[in-house]
Amino acid sequence: MNRTVAFIGLGHMGAPMAANLVRAGHRVVGHDLVPAALESAVAAGVLPAPSAAEAVTGADLVLSMLPAGRHVLGLYDEILPAARPGTLFVDCSTIDVADARTAHGRATAAGMRSLDAPVSGGVVGAEAGTLTFMAGGGEAEFAEALPLLDAMGGKAVHCGDAGAGQVAKICNNMILGVSMIAVSEAFVLAESLGLSHQALYDVASTASGQCWALSVNCPVPGPVPASPANRDYRPGFAASLMAKDLGLAANALRAGGIHAELGLRAAELYERYAERAGSAEDFSGIVRTIRERSTERP
Ligand code: NAD
Repeated sequence: MNRTVAFIGLGHMGAPMAANLVRAGHRVVGHDLVPAALESAVAAGVLPAPSAAEAVTGADLVLSMLPAGRHVLGLYDEILPAARPGTLFVDCSTIDVADARTAHGRATAAGMRSLDAPVSGGVVGAEAGTLTFMAGGGEAEFAEALPLLDAMGGKAVHCGDAGAGQVAKICNNMILGVSMIAVSEAFVLAESLGLSHQALYDVASTASGQCWALSVNCPVPGPVPASPANRDYRPGFAASLMAKDLGLAANALRAGGIHAELGLRAAELYERYAERAGSAEDFSGIVRTIRERSTERP
């Protein structure tokens, strides 16, 4: 069934996601604060709305893809009064678990229904329509959103109640951040002891050290030709995004009193690395800072 969808936030991710909804036959009314972002979405068939409130008037579903929790909560305050009662709000942004739960609460209090549905797969996945969605909210809401999620992605997992999608996202990325640091430290140790990258890769990738950070996104050039290390660490998954996601994980770790020394340390290391690398380098480039700091010994 074709739906009328309001899409708020047409940036790097939102614009190609909205374009895939148009391609699937939905009527997509979009808004972004940046005129150039709105214009590029319009070129892909999105109908422009002069404000977010006007975009949601008459929509069956409202999708948002914004930078952080404060943007989502600000947006919800603006648009909840303008939407039809019972409208389904699906926030695909990566935000704090606490903010996601607050957004659900505000939507419900305003007579709406809601899901959090953050994604993995990056801009490449958004363009190709192969994103993975991790959703939190009710069964019925997930079932209603599923045809739209399928139009934008290759997989959608219903993770549980309000906020569960964000929880799944930060837990997965905490594993990824910590494992990338572990793999990078192992390569630098191997270098210092005279073991070649290829030899370590050949052993660890078929032994108990095997993980995605090693066998797909290998942080040194050579063993995995498609990994960002072979193109001077152009992303891929930008260092700034890993720093952001680990920061969200660290907030949740502290709020829950979880004794996660590696998760908290990984957040610190990526925050420092991202100050220099920003969005220009893949998160696997952290191997270079480990190597540089290793030669700083007296
Ligand atoms: P982006 O900065 O390119 O896009 C965000 C857009 O939201 C911008 O165009 C901005 O103008 C707009 N915006 C902000 N507040 C608004 C408001 N009140 N009304 C209308 N528009 C508003 O960011 P992005 O790379 O598209 O990422 C979006 C979200 O997706 C983030 O939460 C990010 O963590 C997550 N994410 C990004 C990637 C990636 O590879 N870029 C991967 C996975 C998840």
